[in-house]
Amino acid sequence: MKFSQTSIAVRNPTVKQQNDPHQVPIIAASSFRFRSIQHGMAVFDGEEAGHIYSRFGNPTIDAAAQKIADLEGYDLGKPVFGLFFSSGMSAIATAITSVLAGPGKVLAAPDLYGGTVNLLQEMSNQGVAYIPADTRDLEAVDRALAHHPDIRIVYVETPSNPTLRMADLAALAERAHAVGAKLIVDNTFATPVLQQPLLMGADVVIHSTTKFINGHGSGMGGALATADEALFRDRITPVYRLYGGNGNAFDAWLVLNGVRTLPIRMEKQSQNAKAVASWLKDHSKVNLVNYPGLPDSPGYAISQRQMKSGGAILSFELKGGTEVAYRFMNKLNMITLAPTLGDLDTIALHPATQSHRGLDPEVRLAQGIPDGLVRLSIGLESVEDILQDLDRAIELSGV
Ligand SMILES: *Cc1c(COP(=O)(O)O)cnc(C)c1O
Repeated sequence: MKFSQTSIAVRNPTVKQQNDPHQVPIIAASSFRFRSIQHGMAVFDGEEAGHIYSRFGNPTIDAAAQKIADLEGYDLGKPVFGLFFSSGMSAIATAITSVLAGPGKVLAAPDLYGGTVNLLQEMSNQGVAYIPADTRDLEAVDRALAHHPDIRIVYVETPSNPTLRMADLAALAERAHAVGAKLIVDNTFATPVLQQPLLMGADVVIHSTTKFINGHGSGMGGALATADEALFRDRITPVYRLYGGNGNAFDAWLVLNGVRTLPIRMEKQSQNAKAVASWLKDHSKVNLVNYPGLPDSPGYAISQRQMKSGGAILSFELKGGTEVAYRFMNKLNMITLAPTLGDLDTIALHPATQSHRGLDPEVRLAQGIPDGLVRLSIGLESVEDILQDLDRAIELSGV
């Protein structure tokens, strides 16, 4: 059949691959061709492997999801299923909605990532009840579970933000399962390279890939990994597809690029963080340092058992409080002020005026967040330069 020039311009050519590209290509396609009606039916019914429509997944998006699932499930001994989302919040919302399937109670620490607290409050419109209990304190968890036997989800972040407190995942998994609840873990701070919650009994792991997994601050994304096949197939996948939580192929590709250096970045950034934490600890003008990799930290024993290192995030308070903290942060030279974490470079954030701005000062203080607290996400720069910048800014802060 001979086409008009207009039709030649409009039609997509079929790209025949002679051999595979070395990098995963960005498949920017919303849909996939069927060879015939029969082929379309077979793919829709799952009798034949194939892609349909990119909201359900596509080769680039699936590759990113499976990569994170494989890292989370390394040495688990059973298949782990993964999905890639538009953001960490989308992964969290999907995990909670899927497990609850209606109204229900969620036990979580009061000091979660701010967006997650707001999400749980928002979900109260749908009958979701947020039961705050300190997940670092197993007796507090036991009391809450005894008081609310109908809790359906135990939701945990460890290390926590910005106080870097540690929760015992194996003990929490046991307690959640004893009452028929699922344990969902936000593993954004540790990444699967330092901590694998599925190996300690967690049912679902979620990530903001926006942070360490992308690692370069260049895109938004979220991920979910689970070995619970029935939950994944019957609940999580339909919610993902119908609520439209999918990430896009470009952000998935950025994750595929970033994750290749995740092990070496986490190793080096953790080493730098430990050196910075020890240096701050010994500094005469520093009041307190939160870092689970320091031997006298309350989370040290758990971090030794549960993580490969103390991670790349720490927080600290200078003597002199808020005004000193402001001056210190404004005098930083190499270190960037930005409301994120997990990038290649060192980033400083002021929780009281940024991530935890919405909380009352007394509530913040009760959560271990004095107004002078500074959070650092330590990067790959040489540690001497990081220390020099901190030292200089502390000097100029007038403390
Ligand atoms: C950033 C972050 C989120 C939210 O992820 P987004 O990608 O911003 O939606 C959730 N949990 C933690 C621990 C985070 O740091």
